[in-house]
Amino acid sequence: MESGSELIVGIDLGTTNSLVAISDALGPRVIPDEHGRRLVPSVVRFDDGHAVVGNEAKSTSLDFPNTTVNSVKRLMGRSAEDARDDLKFLSYRVAPGERGTARIVLPRKGGGERLVSPEEVSAEILRSLVRVARRVLGRAPAKAVITVPAYFDDAQRQATRTAGRLAGLDVVRLVPEPTAAALAYGIGLPRAGVKPGPRNVVVYDLGGGTFDVSVLRLTPDEGGEPFFFQVLSVGGDSHLGGDDIDHLLVDVMRREIAAQLGLDADRTLELPPQARRQLVSLAESLKVRLSSEQAAAAHIDLGDDRVYERTLTREELERLITPLVDRTIECCRRAMAAAERALGGEPISAVVLVGGVTRTPLVRRRVAEFFGMEPYTALDPDEVVALGAAVQAQILSGSRRDALLLDVIPLSLGIETAGGAVAKVIIRNSTVPARATEMFSTQADGQSSIRLTVYQGEREMAEHCRKLGEFHLRDIPPMPAGVPQVEVAFLVDANGVLNVSAHERRSGKRAGLQVVPNHGLSPEEVERIERDSLTHAREDMTRHRVVDLVANSRLDLKWIGERLERHRGVLEPAYAAELDAAIVALRAQIEQAQHDWTSVNPEEFARAKDALDRASVRLQEVSISASLRENPAL
Ligand code: ADP
Ligand code: MG
Repeated sequence: MESGSELIVGIDLGTTNSLVAISDALGPRVIPDEHGRRLVPSVVRFDDGHAVVGNEAKSTSLDFPNTTVNSVKRLMGRSAEDARDDLKFLSYRVAPGERGTARIVLPRKGGGERLVSPEEVSAEILRSLVRVARRVLGRAPAKAVITVPAYFDDAQRQATRTAGRLAGLDVVRLVPEPTAAALAYGIGLPRAGVKPGPRNVVVYDLGGGTFDVSVLRLTPDEGGEPFFFQVLSVGGDSHLGGDDIDHLLVDVMRREIAAQLGLDADRTLELPPQARRQLVSLAESLKVRLSSEQAAAAHIDLGDDRVYERTLTREELERLITPLVDRTIECCRRAMAAAERALGGEPISAVVLVGGVTRTPLVRRRVAEFFGMEPYTALDPDEVVALGAAVQAQILSGSRRDALLLDVIPLSLGIETAGGAVAKVIIRNSTVPARATEMFSTQADGQSSIRLTVYQGEREMAEHCRKLGEFHLRDIPPMPAGVPQVEVAFLVDANGVLNVSAHERRSGKRAGLQVVPNHGLSPEEVERIERDSLTHAREDMTRHRVVDLVANSRLDLKWIGERLERHRGVLEPAYAAELDAAIVALRAQIEQAQHDWTSVNPEEFARAKDALDRASVRLQEVSISASLRENPAL
């Protein structure tokens, strides 16, 4: 942490999962627990005398339904009466306490029961986050920024503050979750002297059990803060989320298992708790896997040597969840309509995706389609709220968060080419927003997939640059090497978010990637990278040149070699021999470069390549007239 500034953590106290994050000169980041896990399930089990929080409580929740408290956020600051609609979703009992406020009824081991407040349960979750933070930071944080849904009323906000106090935390600010999500992306933060104009942002948050959509307006310089987000409208559905997808999948599997066991399909299949638990967690893992894979297989042991086996495809899942996604889009339509007057015709400038379920490709597609723009997905959707809380904490602690938010791109951005060199697409010090494109092709005949790896840095070789991410452009129809035309476009928008897209023109195939290039980079690091590139400039340039010569010569050799074999019979022997010699000479250069690139003279290499190129002109003519003869229609 920076010296002289107070330590304030950012906390996302979620319905399903909670996280703690900090932000310093390296930017915001989530603090993992000792097992490297970043999300703490918001589940608390009350054993006699002590509380068990997180993964352990979640994994045993079906065994202890009466003493395991999940989704406690739904009860915060509400009366037992208000929460009545939620009760059927909860496994524990709720009763009215003081002034009708909701209390959780916990059975005692020896008989009898006791009441705990939602604040006390949330305090247990917060205490476990404080422990996570203390392990990494070396001291327990005393202050926190905690996020709350934009629609939380005074009582719900007050309850959240109380939970913080019970956990020994001074809650310095409650921040609306959508505001935090926007802050995590740097939306609205002041940039080296440039004041942000009014900007409108939509935050689409699909979590475990709740869906929230918010339309925000960023108004600079109000209330003494560098930025101020006004919530123009909120919408959503308090009972729509990832859990519903899990239940849909459980239903499908239940029906199929019943059929396999020869049971009446309409009769509900009664499963022992063990099998039920297996089924629910299997459903969740299938759902998660299908966000990155096209198919996922399930395998359940039904006992007596019977096994239920099933492969679920992404297409099938998408069909199943389309009605749920439709409902979220309908909420978006209503939220946009409610904000219409306040927006006064101004456009939406960014859509931010929040919540684990927004990793689902169908959700991303539908949101992009509805709002007519690519939503922000560069940050982990289940971390983005905590990251934003940490950014707010950093601003409140007085350390400067704007140090890295420049109106220029501090380091070049590019893509790895054959042989490991980096083709720079956007050059450093370009002002944002910046856009540039570059054409690439394949290296092998019939290559159907291209891996695109995005790098940041000033050095010429990928191994010396910082890898930002990679993606694949797949299903390219078979074509000879060098024929596909892949246009790679880089766009860095005003918030510093980089969108890379690749488009193969002949087949129309597309793929893309989104990252925030400057996250995790300190100003000192940027300086060091610049210095390094100066030190190595000459050597790097030579290597880049040699690598490109090797890649291009290989394509030439392949093309010329094939045509030489086909037409050797009609060429004058002296000309064929001249070509053979030029080929041998160029091959020797390639071999030497591969053995030790420092031992080749790039000028000589380039001359060898030129010599072959010049010598092959006649061969090209022969080849063209041959194909004209074969195909008179041309
Ligand atoms: P909350 O804000 O309600 O605490 P989260 O944002 O943590 O919830 O979202 C949790 C939900 O996201 C769960 O239903 C979980 O199964 C789902 N989820 C997590 N990862 C993925 C994924 N890769 N694809 C689809 N759903 C996912
Ligand atoms: Mg959430």
